[in-house]
Parts: sequence; structure tokens; C-alpha cells
Amino acid sequence: MSDVKLEDIVSLCKRRGFIYPGSDVYGGLSGTWDYGPLGVALKRNIMQLWWKMFVDDAENMYGVDAAILMNQKVWQASGHVDTFTDPLVECSNCHSRLRADKLDDPNKCPVCGKVGTFSEPRAFNMMFKTHVGPVTEREIVEDAVTRAETVTIDESLSATKIPQTDNDPSVSYLRPETAQGIFTNFKNVVDSYYPDMPFGLAQQGKAFRNEISPRDFIFRSREFEQMEIEYFVHPDNWETAFEEWIKRIHLWCEALGLPESTVHELEVEEADRAHYSKRTVDFEFDFPIGREELLGLAYRTDFDLQNIQRVSGKTMEYRPKDGGTPYVPHVIEPSFGVERALMAVLTAAYWNDTENDRVVLKLPMHLAPIKVAVCPLARNKPELVAKAREVFAMLKKEFGAVLWIDSGNIGKNYRKMDEIGVPYVVTVDFETLEGETKDTVTVRSRDTTEQERVQLEKLISRLTSNG
Ligand code: ATP
Repeated sequence: MSDVKLEDIVSLCKRRGFIYPGSDVYGGLSGTWDYGPLGVALKRNIMQLWWKMFVDDAENMYGVDAAILMNQKVWQASGHVDTFTDPLVECSNCHSRLRADKLDDPNKCPVCGKVGTFSEPRAFNMMFKTHVGPVTEREIVEDAVTRAETVTIDESLSATKIPQTDNDPSVSYLRPETAQGIFTNFKNVVDSYYPDMPFGLAQQGKAFRNEISPRDFIFRSREFEQMEIEYFVHPDNWETAFEEWIKRIHLWCEALGLPESTVHELEVEEADRAHYSKRTVDFEFDFPIGREELLGLAYRTDFDLQNIQRVSGKTMEYRPKDGGTPYVPHVIEPSFGVERALMAVLTAAYWNDTENDRVVLKLPMHLAPIKVAVCPLARNKPELVAKAREVFAMLKKEFGAVLWIDSGNIGKNYRKMDEIGVPYVVTVDFETLEGETKDTVTVRSRDTTEQERVQLEKLISRLTSNG
């Protein structure tokens, strides 16, 4: 387990504008989080790095961006309607509803402390159900009652319970994973783009799960983002592709700045694997809450494409370009959660530098929400401010994310910049304006606290040199 405390990260995130509880001003909404100016920048940097590494820098990877709302048949065919469940127990004493497989003690309620008060576990489907189109609550109930023919509309409405039916055409779900949006476009991409085999389709976007017990900051949320790849291969080649993906995932963790010793592979036993998977490796990370899943890698066979073929009646076969026998491809799926990547990045970067009495986020330059801050030594000296503005404009053109700071004392500014992970602060002082040191500035490094004098013409190369 990491020795960083979760409450320290949560508090820094709120204090400095990274992440706030969702709907905070109204008392919150459990399992939801909002991103502030620095959080959104960090999250985007992580997502852009992923896209660059896995899509732009690869030769056989292509992006898609499917709608979140999909035809309900998608979730029937994929098995989510029947099996995307977690075991739910209810305590008869305090009525807390809890996830049975995540309890420290299976007989003791962690909320009220009573023993032996749990109901039998029941399967709770985690998909958020919704209705598409201008249907009213009454119409939904009327329709369901007509189909179910077991209760009256009034009974149903007064109990605010809608009988379950299989085929209400207005039913849809907020997607619980991005993967199905890729599978349902497999045929479109092959028909319109006809990539060589093997190839991968990548997607980033929101996913929603009605988690029974959302907890541990953004680790288990009800609304989160995924970055997923379905990598299509000939069935004979899945093992080689799987091994290659293990290596690529380690490179990804390294690019996030996660020390090798904090990332662990867990070969998931058959009994614990999703029903469609023939092999799964979970990549776990030493979070402040313990060693937990960061991302997953699964061999999904041809389960999804076969299901789509069966339910849609359309062929999912790939015709090899060399005239070989058509086949339904098999799939390797690396599945990344953005929030967990972000929480791992924050954990690895958080440094309580007691020697210098400061908290530092040692974010890698390519992930830091702000790359450099520019500061005139005095803000009431127009000639200093003008020169600093020139430097600011030059750096902004190069790095984009550059911050202007001209309030507070310089020491306080350094502390603040350390806490939000700004790698360098550039100060423009009187020496910048004249004499032998004309056109030089002070560069102060976050990690070492050292300061050096750098010529303006060499400033950009100094800041990108990683030292
Ligand atoms: P867990 O066992 O922790 O519930 P899972 O095995 O259900 O996770 P997957 O279905 O494999 O997760 O989802 C792929 C990735 O999506 C996970 O590795 C994780 O990074 C992310 N993820 C899944 N559920 C959540 C959630 N509720 N909040 C944040 N991220 C999530």
C-alpha cells in the first residue's frame, strides 16, 4: 500500500481546484465528481497521452466515438441485461444496502455494527435504465402493465413500481462500458475502411454504473470515463497479441510516472473472470486504499461479435485480403479507467517534502496541468511587467498552459506552484533588464528547489530538457 494518505490527496484536490464532490453546493450526489480548472487539464493530458501512445503512434489502430445511448438489443446481446450485476445485501437493522463481495466481515454490518442482520444476497443490475423519447411516467407504467397483466395501473403508480417487461421499445441504458460501442461499429469500420488484420479500435468516453457502494474518492464512481481498445486478431494469434499488450500496458504505466514496483499483474482465476473471458490479467496499483485494480486486460474470444451476429442476423466475418477463409475475429481488450489512472498519477506524484516544509506534486512535465509559471519580481514596476509579459507570451506560444503570477511574495508563490505540480517558475527581475545579465531570467525547479540564471534565447530548450 502507498504511504500517501487518501485524505491528503482529496483535500489538496479540493483546495487547489482539481476535483470537487459532484453537486457540492446542493449537498452532493454520491458517486459523482466534478473537475475544476487543474483537474480537467490533468485528466485531458492523461487522455491525450493515451490517444497518442495507442492510436496516433500505432499503425493499425483507429478511433471511434459511439453514442452513449444505444439500442437496448446491444445490452441484451452482450449479456449485460441479465448478468451485469453485483451481489446486494440489506441490513435489517439500519437498512444500509451494501455490496456483499466487498465486506470485510460477511456477517457484520460496517455501518451499524450489528451481526447476523444481512438479507440473502440478491443480484443487483448496475445499469442505469432510462426511456428514450417523449414518454411520460404514466405511459411507461400503462405500457408495462398491459404487457405484464399482473397489476393495475393505480397499484403500480402508487407503489411507484414499474413492472418489468422485456420488450418496452423505449427502454435504453446509460452505457456501463464503452466497449459495446466499438463492437457494434466493427462491421461499419470493416465495410467502410477495411483495415488490415490485426487492427484495433479505440474509444474514450463516459461510462455509468449504479455502484452499490461508491467510495474511495474517484476510485469507484457512478459516472466515470473509460479508454478502451478492442484489438481484433485471427483466433490462432490471440496469445502472442495478449503478451504484446502486457508489454504495452507496462509502457503506459511508466509514461504515467508510476514506479515499476507499484504496478502488479494479477492473473485472474477462471472462477473470478467475466463469463466471456478465457484469460484476464488485472493490473493493480498500490493506491492509498491498498492494492487495487487500475486497469484490465482480457481475452474476450469472439463472444461479442458472435452475439451481434446472432442477434442482428448480419455477418461479422472478416474477409482476409489474400483471399483466405473468412472468419469472425477474436478480441484482446485492454480496458483503462481514466479516474483510476488519475488517482494513481496523483498518488505517485504526491510528496510530503518535510525537509523543505512543503507539499509537492511531482507530476511529469507532459502531464502537468501547468507547465511553467511566469512572475515579474515586482508588479508595480511597468518596465519589469512589460518584459515579463513578453516572456509570458513567448512561453505561452510554446507550451500553452502557462500561468501568470504577480501577487503574493515569491516564497509563497513557489509553495503554491509546488502543490499544483508546476515544474518551473520563471522570474523576471531587474537583472533581466540591464547590465551583463540583460535578457536572462531566473528558473526555479520544483523538484530540486534550485534556481539558475538562463538566457532568454535558451529558455525554451532549458524548460524542455527535463532537468
Ligand atoms: P472492479 O472490480 O473494481 O469493480 P471491474 O472489473 O468491474 O472493476 P471493468 O469492468 O474491467 O472493471 O472496467 C474496466 C476499468 O474501468 C477498470 O479497470 C477501472 O479502471 C474502470 N472502472 C470500472 N468501474 C469503475 C468505477 N465504478 N469507477 C471508476 N472506474 C471504474
